[in-house]
Amino acid sequence: MNIYDLDLQGLTAQLAELGQPAFRARQIYAHLYKKLANDFAAMTDLSAALREQLAAKFQIGGLELVREQTTDDGLTRKVLWRCPGNAVIETVLMIYPPDRATICVSTQAGCAMGCVFCATGKLGLLRNISSGEIMEQVLHFERYLRTEGAAIAKRHGGPVPDHITNLVFMGMGEPFANYDRWWAAVERLNDKQGFNLGARNMTVSTVGLVKGIRQLADEALQVNLAVSLHAPNDQLRSELMPVNDRFDISDLMDAVRYYTDKTHRRVSFEYVLLDDKNDTPELAAQLASLVKGMLCHVNLIPWNPVPGTPLTRSHRERVTAFQRVVQAAGISCTVRVERGVEIAAACGQLAALPAPTSPMNLY
Ligand code: SAH
Ligand code: SF4
Repeated sequence: MNIYDLDLQGLTAQLAELGQPAFRARQIYAHLYKKLANDFAAMTDLSAALREQLAAKFQIGGLELVREQTTDDGLTRKVLWRCPGNAVIETVLMIYPPDRATICVSTQAGCAMGCVFCATGKLGLLRNISSGEIMEQVLHFERYLRTEGAAIAKRHGGPVPDHITNLVFMGMGEPFANYDRWWAAVERLNDKQGFNLGARNMTVSTVGLVKGIRQLADEALQVNLAVSLHAPNDQLRSELMPVNDRFDISDLMDAVRYYTDKTHRRVSFEYVLLDDKNDTPELAAQLASLVKGMLCHVNLIPWNPVPGTPLTRSHRERVTAFQRVVQAAGISCTVRVERGVEIAAACGQLAALPAPTSPMNLY
C-alpha cells in the first residue's frame, strides 16, 4: 500500500489495525508531509518495532524516477516518472527568482481529450494518477528545493525560494476527468497538519468539463480556475478541441459564470495562439465580446512545438496585435512567459518523449 494514498483519517484507521492510537497517525502524517521523510527509519520518535511494522505494511511512494532534466539557467527542471503498471508522466518545476517557485503537476498519464495542438493528447488516456502519486510529484520537488535551494541561488546569483510557493495542475492529463483523486490530493496538500499549501496558491486548468467547473465552485477550498478556451466560436473550437462537441461554448460560459458568481474569484481563460488558425484580429474581437463583462483574465500562450503536427506558432507581432485588440476592449490580457521549451517542459509538450537532441529556437 502506498502510504501517500491515505488521508489522515485513512492513516488513523490503518494504524488502529496495528493497535496504535490516533496521535501516532498524526505523528507519521507530519513526518511525511512536513518533514518530508521518505524512509520509516528516519522517524526516530517511533519505536523500532513500529517502524518495522510500518515498513512491512506500506511503501512511501510508488513512482520510479526515470530522468531529470534541467535548463541551462538551472531555473526549470523536469522529472520523468514511471508509474506502477509502466505508464510514464512528467512534472515540471519553474523557479521565478526571488520569491516564487511553481510546480506543474500531472493528473493523468496521457489524456483522452484529443486536443489537436497538444502532445499529451496524442497519447490517449493511459491511466489516472492516484492522489498519492500527485502528492509524490509535489513532495519530490519540495525536497529538492529544501536541499538544493541554496546551491540554485548561488548559481543564479540571487535569492530563490527554498520551498514550493505555487502549484498548477497543468501537466499531463485533464484534472476534472480524474476529479475525486485530484481533489483528495488538493485537500491533503492544503491540510494545515500536513503540507499546508494555501488553496489560493493552487490553480487547476480544465479543457472545459462543465460538471467539474460546477463541482469546484461548490467546494469549500478556493482553488483558482483556468479554462482552456482557444477559440471564440463553436466551429473553430470543435476543430481544435473535440470536447467542444460535448460541451459547447455556451455550456462552458454558463458553468464559468456559475463559478465566478459563487466564488467571486477571477477565472483565467487560456488561449493558445496558432498561426493563421485562431490568431486573427477578427477572432481577437470575437473573443473580447465573448468574455466581456465576466470576472476574468485572458492568458495568451504562444503555441509550443509538438512533433508530428502541421501547426505553427503565431509570429510575435501577431501575438502582440491579438493582445492589443483584447486589451482595447478593456479586458485584462497577458502573454504567458515561455519556460522550459529546450527540455520540452513547456505547456502542451509533456508526452514523456526522449530528450530533444538539439535545442529548439522559437523565434
Ligand atoms: N488538460 C488541461 C490542463 C493541461 S494543459 C487543459 O487542457 O486545460 C495546460 C494548458 O496548456 C492548456 O491551456 C492547454 O490547452 C495548453 N496547451 C496544450 N498544448 C499546448 C502547446 N503545444 N503549446 C502551448 N500550450 C498548450
Ligand atoms: Fe488533454 Fe489538456 Fe492536452 Fe487537451 S490540452 S489533450 S485536455 S492535456
